[in-house]
Amino acid sequence: MPDQTTTLLILGASGDLTRRLLLPGLGTLLREEPGRTVRVMGADRVELSQEDWQAKVRDSLAEAEVPQEVAERVVADSTYHRTDLLEKDQLRALLEQTGSPLALYFALPPAVTVKVCVLLEELRVPEGTRLALEKPFGDSLESAQELNRQLLRVVPEGSIFRIDHFLGVSTILNLIGLRFANRLLQPIWTAEHIERVEICYDETLALEGRAGYYDHAGALMDMIQSHLLEILAFFAMEAPATMQPEEIRGLKAQALRAVQPWGHDPTAASRRARYTAGEVEGTQVPDYASEEGVDPERETETLAQLTVQLDNARWSGVPFVLRSGKALGDKAKRVVVVFREPAHTPTGLSPAPGPDRLVLELKPGSVALELSMNAEGDPFDLEQKELAAELGKSRMLPYGEILGAILDGNPLLTIRGDEAEELWRIVEPVYAAWRAGEVPLEEYAAGSDGPGGW
Ligand code: NDP
Repeated sequence: MPDQTTTLLILGASGDLTRRLLLPGLGTLLREEPGRTVRVMGADRVELSQEDWQAKVRDSLAEAEVPQEVAERVVADSTYHRTDLLEKDQLRALLEQTGSPLALYFALPPAVTVKVCVLLEELRVPEGTRLALEKPFGDSLESAQELNRQLLRVVPEGSIFRIDHFLGVSTILNLIGLRFANRLLQPIWTAEHIERVEICYDETLALEGRAGYYDHAGALMDMIQSHLLEILAFFAMEAPATMQPEEIRGLKAQALRAVQPWGHDPTAASRRARYTAGEVEGTQVPDYASEEGVDPERETETLAQLTVQLDNARWSGVPFVLRSGKALGDKAKRVVVVFREPAHTPTGLSPAPGPDRLVLELKPGSVALELSMNAEGDPFDLEQKELAAELGKSRMLPYGEILGAILDGNPLLTIRGDEAEELWRIVEPVYAAWRAGEVPLEEYAAGSDGPGGW
């Protein structure tokens, strides 16, 4: 942890991301690492007094139970700057008040972020400045490439932090230890032993008033194109020699480059659906298409499934099923590894009741290995028994881990430019098939487990 004071300048400090995720994340970071020295500056075009801003910061730190003397030091140092970030002179004046090293966090609408980056190229930022950007990184392969080119005109790649907060989720980081730190799983993490993998993020939450964002994104972009493909990259990458950011990010990019729709057929490999009225956990949920702010003609999917393959020696022939949706009957946030049948089970034993599986629950974190063995009763009868472990609670919120890494200048938990482009390269043929009407938009009642037959 550096002892130098880093300035964290949040652009879009009055927005939802800052209030709901960044400031609470900062609170948990300072609770766990109270020795950090960070100067928090907020900038936004919204009128806000210095006192109101400091009260927001103070409340977040108090909520996270940051030691009081640490909280007071950070609050006293924290400033708010009413700025129209698209006005070059105002942006210049803001930058002149920052210190070095500087981390600029773009908590802005994506289109505004792009324009601010153009201005930053003209204004030039202090040496060593880090840029932290939220997803979505562009809305197509071409726009992601253009955004990457623009960012590189401002700072070098090593100073660009493309944020995917799933990479700050400890259960996902646990994949590295689970795969590479024990003798048991490492040798069987191949197509020879694994039959299929499911990466699932089913939510019971419905739209929750977020039509302005979600109706333009949909489940494929909101979850699969970003978070679930990143989990897949951690799951499928080759073994790293070290935890150096460049090594891990390089291995993830290598894995993503091998990803293709199952059978190279984006139509057969994908499914999409939208929820109709129903009941979720005792609450009535209206038809998605009739929600305020939704344009039904856009045909936004609230549930998407994409099966991919990795065209490489380790994973040849193994389907990876990625699925995520809203307003489903049950939460299912997990990675399921289905192992192949044993080469031979002794004749005379009853057949195994099912395939062996490893289930990694993401929220709350746990790992369970379901194995066929003779367990109870008749010793020649096979049963499935579970060896299970709860994973400890994470020490801080995902945004705490992410902010800590940005302040340290460590891009390990972020997405490199080529990775961001690969994520679009993978889903673009799927969107093309959907736009061409090759994959019907199915329906499911809110509170069900999705359309029949999925
Ligand atoms: P909001 O619209 O809530 O916040 C953006 C803020 O930026 C607003 O206060 C807005 O002011 C301000 N702003 C817009 N234009 C300017 C400008 N020219 N100069 C100064 N301030 C400006 O968005 P979110 O916080 O929800 O999202 C921010 C980013 O984070 C987006 O990229 C989003 O995709 C991403 N994200 C958000 C998540 C969330 O849960 N909110 C989760 C993950 C990612 P005004 O209100 O006046 O327009």
